[in-house]
Amino acid sequence: MITGKIFNIQRYSIDDGPGIRTTVFLKGCPLRCKWCSNPESQNAWPEIVHRDSFCHRCGTCITACPEKAIVLGDKGIEIDRHLCTNCGRCAEVCPYNALEMVGQEMLVDDVLSEVRRDAEYYRVSGGGVTASGGEPLSQADFVAELFARCGEEGIHTCLDTSGYASPGAFKKVLAYTNIVFFDIKHTDPERHEEMTKHQNGVILDNLQIVVKSGVDVIIRIPVLSGLNSTVEEMADTAKLIRDSGLNKVHLLPYHKYGVGKYEMLDREYPLEDLVPPAPEELEAIVRMMNKYSLDCEVRI
Ligand code: SF4
Ligand code: SF4
Repeated sequence: MITGKIFNIQRYSIDDGPGIRTTVFLKGCPLRCKWCSNPESQNAWPEIVHRDSFCHRCGTCITACPEKAIVLGDKGIEIDRHLCTNCGRCAEVCPYNALEMVGQEMLVDDVLSEVRRDAEYYRVSGGGVTASGGEPLSQADFVAELFARCGEEGIHTCLDTSGYASPGAFKKVLAYTNIVFFDIKHTDPERHEEMTKHQNGVILDNLQIVVKSGVDVIIRIPVLSGLNSTVEEMADTAKLIRDSGLNKVHLLPYHKYGVGKYEMLDREYPLEDLVPPAPEELEAIVRMMNKYSLDCEVRI
């Protein structure tokens, strides 16, 4: 029985593929994008998070922690992440739900039961299920099995991928995938490494595998002012997409929605000073993409 490490199942999603969808968020990602809005997705294992606004400083968690990893400091509860083993005991005893374990093992059958609940919405809207993350291909066996079972039941499948995975993982999942959302963050290997901690060779090779598979593809580009959005940078990206024989592009303007999650994980947010791109900047990128005959839209 294959299990997946899942940190969220979101029903009624309208931005993760065609129609109304259920998005299954899988834990684990090899990239470390500076702007990641799901930092809880990056590590492959379950993790404890602390919501300070819920915390009453009662100290129950301090007593319960077998590793003595929790102390009450000047600013509230502090978790020593080096001592913490993510056992989850503190979350079990917290009377105010200020602590939570993010991520759990689920069987394909269990995820499918959730997905099936909205089958009627998928039928009416042309929706289905989306595997996202994290990088869903870091759990390729699980996603392939989930998608194969969805296919048997006529449920449309969308793979939302960073492109950073083994070619074997791609081939395994593409066989059961109806549409791929594929991220292109930068065409230059060094700049890509600055943004994500990895160069982009693997991603660009995998893009060709996806193109050759014949599955529908939408390229998604995060737009980060000062990191990847100059005219020259976007022109290089546009050429790459056009020369790959693709033509659908979604621009994803940078936002700060994930900032609070970094605090809950006791991590520093790496892009504190970055601001979202101005509408004029986005419009200029759309016009430039259109010049390369790309069908480009901004998705908020
Ligand atoms: S048990 Fe919960 S509410 Fe009490 S101090 Fe710990 S986190 Fe805060
Ligand atoms: S998850 Fe376990 S080890 Fe970590 S702080 Fe909570 S009780 Fe302690």
